[in-house]
Amino acid sequence: MPVPEFELIHRYFSQKGQLHKDVALGIGDDAALLNPPAGQQLVIAIDTLVHGVHFPVTTSAYDIGWKALAVNLSDLAAMGAEPAWFTLALTIPESSEDWLTDFSRGLFDLAKEYGLSLVGGDTTRGPLTVSIQVAGNVPAGQALLRAGAEPGDRIFVTGSLGDASLALQLLTEQGPETVQDYPELLQRLNHPHPRIAEGRVLRGIASCAIDISDGLLADLQHVLDASDTGADIYLERIPYSVAAQQLLSQNPEIRNALLTGGDDYELCFCVPADKLEQLQQIATDNQFNFTEIGQISDTNKLRCLDAAGRVVEMNARGYSHFSKESE
Ligand code: ADP
Ligand code: MG
Repeated sequence: MPVPEFELIHRYFSQKGQLHKDVALGIGDDAALLNPPAGQQLVIAIDTLVHGVHFPVTTSAYDIGWKALAVNLSDLAAMGAEPAWFTLALTIPESSEDWLTDFSRGLFDLAKEYGLSLVGGDTTRGPLTVSIQVAGNVPAGQALLRAGAEPGDRIFVTGSLGDASLALQLLTEQGPETVQDYPELLQRLNHPHPRIAEGRVLRGIASCAIDISDGLLADLQHVLDASDTGADIYLERIPYSVAAQQLLSQNPEIRNALLTGGDDYELCFCVPADKLEQLQQIATDNQFNFTEIGQISDTNKLRCLDAAGRVVEMNARGYSHFSKESE
């Protein structure tokens, strides 16, 4: 049954959960009114997910709702920001009740984890496209930027890399049955958990940060460009999940894809030598999983080294490892 627009906004998107304390006026007027806290800078990011481009056509409505918000929160995490509000521009081919119910559940399940308020949006008809803008706060002058890495800084990543890109490859090249054998990989593709808590504690410790959305090598390169430095990465130190390690041992050729496939939504950040102890303490106190993978150099090049210290040429754009045509 199609739902009329006003009814739809009211039913699926109005006042779900608690309104954030800084919302003076949320959904329902021509625009929202927010009271940003004194002494904080406003941090804003937007990302659009297009059906069949940014998620496979088989993705459930719940997962689309979750992921559309998660990819934006990941950008705020990389700035060391506290998320507070978001707006939603939703384009849907038809107003299906089942789809909207599941989509809004996915969206608000994640929003509630961070006490986020949906304060406005726009609803239109057309090919499925979800655009979310998220806003938050960071103490003035303390945001983590891509620029700031210095030679000698150690390079870290949160969590593990490559799971989402493996899931996507299995899905697109071997079909939905094969990927069902790796539920933990599929979970990483559809349900990224933005590293908000990690980003928050890195303020004042990290010299720079970025979230890994396009693969480690491409995103680290953005840090190097912004910081005008190079880096040495030790390939054997890169953290992988048990499932990714298993696939990697069966087929070493996939290593490149793990570092270039994207959709990780982990953080990559640098820490100067005199802050390493502080980082270690924070990781232990909060049970955060930070792995040191290399260091910033003054060479202006991103080099990947094997266990013997030899330079390994990596294809930064990645390629298809499960397809017959690869190599
Ligand atoms: P206008 O025509 O003045 O732009 P709309 O009819 O588009 O207003 O929206 C009415 C109210 O509903 C506004 O407060 C708007 O922010 C909100 N809204 C519309 N679509 C959405 C959505 N998908 N999610 C959240 N809020 C929405
Ligand atoms: Mg209006």
